[in-house]
Amino acid sequence: MANSMQTPSTHAAPSRQPAVFLGHGSPMNAMDDNVHTQAWHALGARLGKPRAILAISAHWYTRGTFVTAEAAPQTIHDFGGFPDALYQLQYPAPGAPALAADVVQRLGDFAAAPRTDWGLDHGTWSVLRHLYPDADVPVVQLSIDATRPWSDALRIGTALRGLREAGVLILGSGGIVHNLSRVDWQGRAPTPDWALGFDRWVADKALAGEDATLADPSTFDAAGRLAVPTPDHYLPLLYVLGTRFADDTTQVVHTGFELGTISLQALQLG
Ligand code: ZN
Repeated sequence: MANSMQTPSTHAAPSRQPAVFLGHGSPMNAMDDNVHTQAWHALGARLGKPRAILAISAHWYTRGTFVTAEAAPQTIHDFGGFPDALYQLQYPAPGAPALAADVVQRLGDFAAAPRTDWGLDHGTWSVLRHLYPDADVPVVQLSIDATRPWSDALRIGTALRGLREAGVLILGSGGIVHNLSRVDWQGRAPTPDWALGFDRWVADKALAGEDATLADPSTFDAAGRLAVPTPDHYLPLLYVLGTRFADDTTQVVHTGFELGTISLQALQLG
């Protein structure tokens, strides 16, 4: 199955795909037209369509590492209290069972297992709806293993980076600053300095290639501890950084906040 994503020799080899992390913000971004969703549209247009997408969403946080293996993954509306129209949205991208099997094999001792009881959660589809509105790129999700140290998120990313050379876009979806107890639900307060500062510190470390620092929460100051009260929205960044190649460029492709303190900063490798 390791060869399942390779192009036949009569065709040109796929060019190496980037890896992208982005903050997804509110589920309402799935249907809203705002500065963030416009940036995702532009990013998708600039990236072009990959052969497939491997998505790591904050909202599939599991004990163990799992990979979606459905041929036709369901659109999961994993949120509550939003308008009916949001629950009507579907993102009918195909799955890629062969890619799922390839991911399991590449992860080896990380003991990833295929699952057919998940699908695409809103961390994935709320942004893909803007990146690739036609839903014509196959998507596989990789779960975040809540039982592992943060440094393993980097190692798992590294084990998967060869997929980028096989034409797979790796997409992490979460948020660098994500503390729901600090949100301004009216959305009127300015973003506080601690949130701006941590958002910028993380970007600076990522741009400098200091991924190990970012994977060590003991390096966080008080702002970092406030920004990352739980690891779920932060860890997708580490999976993405783990896919770094030595010659990758790193760039910030979007910045911004919602509800005062929810970061939508996006970073791109390659
Ligand atoms: Zn979220």
